[in-house]
Amino acid sequence: MIDVKGITKSFGKLQVLKGIDLHINKGEVVSIVGPSGAGKTTLLQIIGTLDKPDSGTVVIDGVDVGKLSTNKLADFRNEHIGFVFQFHQLLPEFTALENVMIPAFINGKGRREAKQRAMELLDFMGLADRAGHKPNELSGGEKQRVAVARALVNHPAVILADEPSGSLDSKNKAELHQLFFDLRDKFGQTFVIVTHDEHLASITDRTIHMVDGQLDNENTME
Ligand code: ATP
Repeated sequence: MIDVKGITKSFGKLQVLKGIDLHINKGEVVSIVGPSGAGKTTLLQIIGTLDKPDSGTVVIDGVDVGKLSTNKLADFRNEHIGFVFQFHQLLPEFTALENVMIPAFINGKGRREAKQRAMELLDFMGLADRAGHKPNELSGGEKQRVAVARALVNHPAVILADEPSGSLDSKNKAELHQLFFDLRDKFGQTFVIVTHDEHLASITDRTIHMVDGQLDNENTME
């Protein structure tokens, strides 16, 4: 599903990724852990095609993303990859439902189809009765679940999450973590989650340790 080979990346003189090889299977929920500055977010951004490596390849669903033109890359990202960040980044002037529908519109879906899919996801997350509320009328946990619904609306094969529960209290954390597994079981998505949360890392299918731009070898391949 995701094949990363020989990825290197430097910012100026600082080499942040020093040759990363990683294979992630379809439907796996994988966590990436490691000290601050190890390069976890940089790796996630490169897997998510938001940044380019200096060398190496990223293949997602059989597509070598480094070979796609800029336009094709944006379409590929929109169709195949969903992002969840530490801070929900919902648009404040739109309702929960509208926030979830927006990426479907961008992807060319009609209003009816976008609304149906968005409502299905909000319902699955126990948020059907919050659909008409704007982000400032939702709790932190609810906002983050709306952000997850938004990431899923185009049926992406891959969800990339960067500290998704970093801003949540322990109850909302536990609910969000359970949601990832429920979603994987229902929709078959592959999750790659960068986290400092030890509990989340302990319940994922596989934990990849990253230190100083390199992966712990034992955990890189299935
Ligand atoms: P954390 O757990 O604190 O989020 P991380 O493991 O995700 O850390 P990265 O965010 O990938 O680490 O950053 C790795 C290193 O690269 C850090 O030293 C950071 O300052 C540096 N870095 C990241 N992005 C850039 C950039 N765009 N320009 C320059 N340096 C950067």
